[in-house]
Amino acid sequence: MLADNLREVSQRLYSAAAAAGRQPPLLVAVSKLQPAAAITELAAAGQRHFGENYVQEALRKRREIPPGDGEAAVWHLIGHLQSNKAREAAETFDWVQTVDRPSIATALARHRPPARGPLDVLIQVNVDDEPGKHGCRPDEVPALADAIAAQPALRLRGLMLIPTPHPDPEDRRPAFRAGRALYEALHAAHPGVDTLSMGMSDDWQVALAEGATMVRIGTALFGARPAR
Ligand SMILES: *Cc1c(COP(=O)(O)O)cnc(C)c1O
Repeated sequence: MLADNLREVSQRLYSAAAAAGRQPPLLVAVSKLQPAAAITELAAAGQRHFGENYVQEALRKRREIPPGDGEAAVWHLIGHLQSNKAREAAETFDWVQTVDRPSIATALARHRPPARGPLDVLIQVNVDDEPGKHGCRPDEVPALADAIAAQPALRLRGLMLIPTPHPDPEDRRPAFRAGRALYEALHAAHPGVDTLSMGMSDDWQVALAEGATMVRIGTALFGARPAR
């Protein structure tokens, strides 16, 4: 059944990308609050990239996933990261999409086990410049990017953003467009940058049209999330 959802979502991503003349975006399956069995099922259906919001929950679930299909999984941290969790995050994840300050970049670099190779990171940008929201300000991106690029234990891959959740996804388009402009500027300064992570279950069409190369989709794949 989850395999059917995966097929349907992938097909919609492919046709929307083709219609826009773009490459299909990389699909990150957001498995927060979903049981390990659901991850195992989706991995068996061929899904590789999974996104988790909480470090402890991800650690616990990874231990529950039996060897096999889950071994190929690539793990993305997409929730806010506190400094006291940096070590576990650097050990557990393949990507951290929520780097929003130099101190967290330094902490991740210090704790990344050398044997794992560089940690792929995205800068989370508060593109609407909304007070109280996670993510750095748009004008902080260049300096933060330089700080990340100076760490051999980190690999700067791009930007991640979550627009203000206006009820009509169309009203999020300006935020996606602003993200795209920041991404282009970042790519010009750091040619290794190749990822613009934006778009969720209810707004990925708009995000894709505005240039997303990676979408983070939970509900449309797994169904509604159980309560925390
Ligand atoms: C939960 C979450 C998603 C997925 O949301 P859905 O609406 O279930 O697709 C994507 N990105 C982040 C950062 C999230 O926290």
